[in-house]
Formats: sequence, structure tokens, C-alpha cells
Amino acid sequence: MNNICLVCGYDQLEEPQYVEEVPSYEICPCCGFQAGFDDDAASYPQTIPEYRASWLKHDAPWFMPKEKPANWDLKEQLKNINFEI
Ligand SMILES: [Zn+2]
Repeated sequence: MNNICLVCGYDQLEEPQYVEEVPSYEICPCCGFQAGFDDDAASYPQTIPEYRASWLKHDAPWFMPKEKPANWDLKEQLKNINFEI
């Protein structure tokens, strides 16, 4: 099974973002969300929906643009997390 980013629906993460609530600290190459950091209230208090809303508001930029597939489709990707825009 693919590891899907809970923020943006990117499905090629190397690890699951959370295993029994323990974060991976992997940075999503698509939205840049780092599980365990960007949603850690102590360092950067944003919930996953808030992070997503802010990312979408900025036109969903790729954190690592080189990883972006040529035929990338934001709407399609968001279907992985059942999120519609
Ligand atoms: Zn992501």
C-alpha cells in the first residue's frame, strides 16, 4: 500500500506519516508538510486542515519542484484523501 500524505494526498511517501500516532518526520516533497513538526503545537501550531488550506491558498506549490510529475493533477491527487476543490 502506498503511503499517502494526509495534507495533500501525495502517495509516494517513503514511510507512513504516523504509526500509532508516532510521526515519521518525513517531509512531503509535494506540500512540504513534515509530520511531527508542522503539526506540533509546541513548534508550529497548525492542524493538518489548516496547513492544507494555507497550501492551497498559495496555489499548491511543490516543496521539491524537481519531484513534480509533468502530468501532475492537483484535483486527482486530492482524491487520495477524499478532498475536493
Ligand atoms: Zn503532502
